Amino acid sequence: MYDPLHDSCPGPQQQHHLTTPAGTIRCAKVIIASNGYSAQNLHPSVQGRTLPVLSSVVVTRPLTPIELATIKLTSQRLVMDTRALKYYFRLLPDQRLLFGGRGAITGKDADKPRYREHLLAALADTFSCLRGIQAEYFWSGWVSVALDDYPRIYSPSPGVFTSMGYCGAGVTFTQLAGQRVAQLAMGAELPALPFYQSALPRFPFARFRRLGQRLYYYVHR
Ligand SMILES: Cc1cc2nc3c(=O)[nH]c(=O)nc-3n(C[C@H](O)[C@H](O)[C@H](O)COP(=O)(O)OP(=O)(O)OC[C@H]3O[C@@H](n4cnc5c(N)ncnc54)[C@H](O)[C@@H]3O)c2cc1C
Repeated sequence: MYDPLHDSCPGPQQQHHLTTPAGTIRCAKVIIASNGYSAQNLHPSVQGRTLPVLSSVVVTRPLTPIELATIKLTSQRLVMDTRALKYYFRLLPDQRLLFGGRGAITGKDADKPRYREHLLAALADTFSCLRGIQAEYFWSGWVSVALDDYPRIYSPSPGVFTSMGYCGAGVTFTQLAGQRVAQLAMGAELPALPFYQSALPRFPFARFRRLGQRLYYYVHR
């Protein structure tokens, strides 16, 4: 999908060449901010350090007053459970219930009905009075999972900066991460927190991560 991006011309002001379908860009600094959408061959220094995982969501019709009273969700705050394969849900402003969790393993399977049905079954297990409710919306997207569940903001090689590995909990964290990765690229000092002190750990046997993911899903479902 993406052309590889490679370093060249060693020297004090190293140049990076970004090859895209529309042309090549030369620059001194590159920020990789494509998170779970990063192609595996995007840059060797981040290769094998995150696992793109599909997160899928269903949204129901607006719930009736009786259903709302029964499920006892009074706030619109996001709720997430503590399973290994977590489910999360939220009441939307128009009283629809959004319910999400891990989806298919591969992108080509993302829209298959069985993953929507799986989420609806989990929704019914969580709120039994909603058993049989249908999804009016269903979609998926990629999140980037780090080996140790811990995101990093770092410079993997000279002139290259990145922030990724939010494991699906990035909506709030990325607001800060964007600021910090820009500061890092500008040579500013960052707070002495672990986020900035180390690289994302490499997945062992990275080529077989999908197989490992299948086993993990099998065990934890
Ligand atoms: C269905 C779903 C539900 C989620 N729910 C929650 C939630 O409830 N709470 C929460 O905290 N987080 C949630 N997340 C995770 C959250 O969306 C991400 O962690 C966060 O968006 C990461 O932000 P980001 O800017 O780093 O990357 P992204 O938002 O993933 O953006 C990456 C961008 O890079 C672009 N890109 C990729 N490759 C290239 C390229 N070669 N050139 C140019 N652009 C490129 C992509 O098009 C995309 O726009 C959810 C994610 C999904 C998919």
